[in-house]
Amino acid sequence: MQALQLFGDRDLRLTEVEAPPPPGPGEVRVRVRAVGLNFIDVWGFRGMAFAKRRLPLTVGAEAAGEIAELGEGVEGLEAGDKVALYGAMTCGRCRACTEGRDNLCEDVGGVMGFHIDGFAREFVTMPARLVVKVPDAVSLTDAACAGIAFGTVQHMLFDNAKLEPGESILVHAGGSGIGTAAIRMAKAIGCTVYTTVGDDEKGAKAAALGADHVVNYRTERFEGEVRRLTKRKGVDVVFEHVGPDTWNGSLLCLKRGGRLVTCGSTSGVSTTMNLMQLFQQQYRITGSFGCRLANIAESLDKMADGIRPVVDTVYPLADFAQGLERLESRKVFGKILVSF
Ligand SMILES: [Zn+2]
Repeated sequence: MQALQLFGDRDLRLTEVEAPPPPGPGEVRVRVRAVGLNFIDVWGFRGMAFAKRRLPLTVGAEAAGEIAELGEGVEGLEAGDKVALYGAMTCGRCRACTEGRDNLCEDVGGVMGFHIDGFAREFVTMPARLVVKVPDAVSLTDAACAGIAFGTVQHMLFDNAKLEPGESILVHAGGSGIGTAAIRMAKAIGCTVYTTVGDDEKGAKAAALGADHVVNYRTERFEGEVRRLTKRKGVDVVFEHVGPDTWNGSLLCLKRGGRLVTCGSTSGVSTTMNLMQLFQQQYRITGSFGCRLANIAESLDKMADGIRPVVDTVYPLADFAQGLERLESRKVFGKILVSF
C-alpha cells in the first residue's frame, strides 16, 4: 500500500510499504480517506529532533476513514462505518485514561505522525477504543478535522477555559484552522468574539464567520484595540496559540479574573511576563494539548448541527508537502487537508 513518509528535514516521499497486519482482538483496520494538516506536522517537517522519533516516519496526525475490518470482540462498529481517529497511542488502562482524560495518559506511546507512524497511508490498524463513529450528516473531510482542530478547540474552550454563553473572547489568528473553529464554536453559544488577523482579506472572512470585532494586528496594536472596544474592561477569555509575539498583549486584554488558554506558540517558545500583574489581576492561565476522546465525539456532533470546519484547500496525498508549505506561509484561511 502507499504511505507518505518523512525521510529527513523537508524530505517527504510517497512510498510503497507493507500493509498493516489484520486487526487483533479489540482492534480495527481503517481505510484512511482524509488527513488534516496541523502545525504539529510543520514542526515535524522542519526536522525538529525528538528522542522518540525514528525515520522514515509515516506522517499525518489527524484523520478520518472507513472501517475495513473488525478484530475479535469489537462492538458498536461495522465494516463501512465512517470514523474519526484519535491521534495519540494512549494506554487505555491508567487512571487518566479510565477517567476519560485521555490526553493526560500516564503511559502514552506517542503522537501519531510525530513520534510514531501516522495516518497518511491507505490502511491503519489501531485499537477500536481510539476511533470515534462519525454521524451520517458529516463528510469524511470534515470529520478529518475533528481529531486535532475541532477536538483541541472544544477542549480549550469548554473543558479548560469554561467559556459560558454571553461571555467575551479574543481569538488569535482568526484565519487559522483552530481560529476559525474557535470563532464558530464561541458564536454558536452567543459569545462576543474579538479576533486578530494578519490582513484585511482574512478580516472580511473572519467577520463573515461571525466575529464581532476584527483587528488587523499588522496595522493596529491589538491590545489597544481590544481594550478600547471593551471600554477598558477587557475580555473574559483569550484563546492563545501564537506565543511570544502576542503573550503580554493577550494578558493586557483580559479582565480581572480572566482566563487565558493556550495550545501553541508558533512565534517561538519563550517569553517573559509580569508576575505582579498575574496575581494582582487574578488571571487563570491554562495550557492545553490535544483533547479527550469525548471532545472528538462532541466536535462531530457540532459538525452535524452545522458548525462545519472552514476548509481552505484539499490536496491529493502526493501534494502533502505543498499543503505544509501553504500552512507555513500563513496565507491560509481555515483547514488544509489531503484526501485519498
Ligand atoms: Zn493511559
